[in-house]
Amino acid sequence: MATAALAQVQSVLDHYSSLADAFIALEAVLLVVFNVERINLFQRRKYQQDLISPFTTKPFFQRTTLPISPQSIVGYVALSQQALIIPDPFDTQALHAIHPSLQLTGQLNEKFDGQSPHTTSNILCIPIMHAGVLLGVVQLVNKANAFGDDDLTLGTNIAQMLAQRFTYELGGTQRPLDTLVHRKCITNDALDALLMEPGLNDNPKLLLQKLISEHRIEPNLIGQSLSIHYQVPYISYDPERYHVYANANRLNESYLKHHLIAIIANNNDKPIILMAQPNNASIILEIERALNIASYDIAVGLATDILQFLGESDSHSCPAEMDEILDEISMSADDLDDPIEELSDEAPAVVRLVSRILHDATRLTASDIHIDPQKSAPTRVRMRVDGICRDLNQIPASHHNAVIARIKIMANVNIAEKRIPQDGKLTFKHSDQLIEVRVATLPTIAGEGLVMRILASSGAMPIDQLNLSTENMLMLQGMARKPHGIMLVVGPTGSGKTTTLHAILGHLNTPDKKIWTIEDPVEITQPGLQQVQVNPKIGFTFANALRAFLRADPDIILIGEMRDKETAHAAVNASLTGHLVLSTLHTNSAPETITRLLDLGLDSINFSDACVGILAQRLIRSLCPKCKAPYQATPEERAFIHRQYGADMIAELNLKTDITLYKAVGCQQCDDIGYIGRTGVHELLTMTPTLRSLIYHSANVSELTKQAMCDGMRTLLQDGIKKMLYGITDIKQIQILGGVK
Ligand SMILES: [Zn+2]
Repeated sequence: MATAALAQVQSVLDHYSSLADAFIALEAVLLVVFNVERINLFQRRKYQQDLISPFTTKPFFQRTTLPISPQSIVGYVALSQQALIIPDPFDTQALHAIHPSLQLTGQLNEKFDGQSPHTTSNILCIPIMHAGVLLGVVQLVNKANAFGDDDLTLGTNIAQMLAQRFTYELGGTQRPLDTLVHRKCITNDALDALLMEPGLNDNPKLLLQKLISEHRIEPNLIGQSLSIHYQVPYISYDPERYHVYANANRLNESYLKHHLIAIIANNNDKPIILMAQPNNASIILEIERALNIASYDIAVGLATDILQFLGESDSHSCPAEMDEILDEISMSADDLDDPIEELSDEAPAVVRLVSRILHDATRLTASDIHIDPQKSAPTRVRMRVDGICRDLNQIPASHHNAVIARIKIMANVNIAEKRIPQDGKLTFKHSDQLIEVRVATLPTIAGEGLVMRILASSGAMPIDQLNLSTENMLMLQGMARKPHGIMLVVGPTGSGKTTTLHAILGHLNTPDKKIWTIEDPVEITQPGLQQVQVNPKIGFTFANALRAFLRADPDIILIGEMRDKETAHAAVNASLTGHLVLSTLHTNSAPETITRLLDLGLDSINFSDACVGILAQRLIRSLCPKCKAPYQATPEERAFIHRQYGADMIAELNLKTDITLYKAVGCQQCDDIGYIGRTGVHELLTMTPTLRSLIYHSANVSELTKQAMCDGMRTLLQDGIKKMLYGITDIKQIQILGGVK
């Protein structure tokens, strides 16, 4: 009887190519074979944690969806992946014995396709499984006499035949990674070989690493393949959209790590069981019991992403590493005779390459990124980190234009214009933070180059982190307390002037003070400040803004830079009319700043009355505190210190006969460079009556320097030597600072 039935089913299945067509014929056979009143065939819905019944016995045809959960018989069978005979659906106790949530109300929710549940007397429910993945559920309703074990066996066999015949239609693949073969990311033989490797098949993490590093497959593609196989959505590590579910700590962490499961929640706090192998029904039921959650989603995740949700850091979930992207590009570049045109900037590898460059720059705390074209050679990508340019990567020349075009699109500048320099701005997200990047294009004879400056979008640095010497700190705070006057921070580009100015402003920023800033661009924002950005294109310059500010009656004004005579005049006038003005200038030393401003045509009396102080500064590399090594200064180094600090001042250093200095070594912490970050060195000039009279009488730089030092100023080099003696930096950095080798 059973064999005949199976043969009959097989011939129906062979005859039809689609499940919808087959079902009508199949239904007629099954109604007779099982002697039942109705048959419902539920299909697992892609990417939703539910079942839909597209095929059901007439005249009850009506679409029904059911969640995969223990609240209905079909839902429970789908969840547990176990066939079930329910002799009496109204026997609440019997239902509770199967699962506490399984109850009559849940049964009523099943609606039985519009029919009253009271006409239901018994049920046989069988999961349709393929390769360990649930594809659907067959439900047989109302057998004249009770369902028996024969029915169960026959039903299970038929479900298997259905699964095999209609795997594709029901939405399954044979193996989790088969979609990668279909998409030609890997050959079938290579995948077979990989899965045959000892220890790989049951180690999702190792398998994933091999696929990414050896077969160059993008993690997202692997996730999509798993998603197609397991019929659940794929979720990658995205802390902005998903967080760890609050009750997840009810589960043992090692249990979660062992089974590669993370319990996460979306922004609506709906729990999601994220699994590397989401076909493990018994584990899902265990978790459901432990967390006592009735409603949840199931999703598939990559092992590394799941571990990241569990708190393990792993770089594999980041965009693919630079080398991998570059390998991918150079592989595709080999087959190309013509350079890739701009329009193909959306080629995923190029998009990822640009995103990787930006993320690397942020991770390395680079200030600038240079993309330099070379004549018939690969494009160089360099980054300035702690003031030093590092050669990071090369882009194949064939992809140069595509990379430039991608950045130009992001920066919203004209991608067709390649003959004149253009400026633009782009923003990108790096671990929860929006990073702003100024982009400048530069046409060169080798092609279009590009410089990106990463703007520190953070708030102000506390003033005590500027690493000013105690004397300088006290003097600077004294100057900042003045109700009016002008205070300047000077140095070349990249010497940290803006950081210092904002640290001073942060120190002054109290609710009783009204502070306006005019900057180009606004790099650091602080609450409580009125910050304005210049826009020369529409005639909104430093000088114009300053005039507008004065009408707004501020106490303190920051002018980003005294670029020209007009701005310098306006700034001095503002400081003479009762405002404290802070600004910067591109000069090398504090005394030189005075002569520069007078050369610009500023009135020497006005300026010397207005000026309260000038801080010159530089940034020099600081030694890695983890690995720096002490040593005794050589006689040459001792002579250098004496000469540079000055014979008449060296006594204040209280040097012993043995001078301990530190040198760079290199360790894991500092990337084997021996240095981490930079420290400021400072030269602070305070205005005094003697210095003022020298300014009135147009004294030269060396006379001004001499007087300023008498008044307590120490030069950049002297300040640097002190910092070297403290072990903050080494003698090499001081020699660079002093311009001596
Ligand atoms: Zn180190």
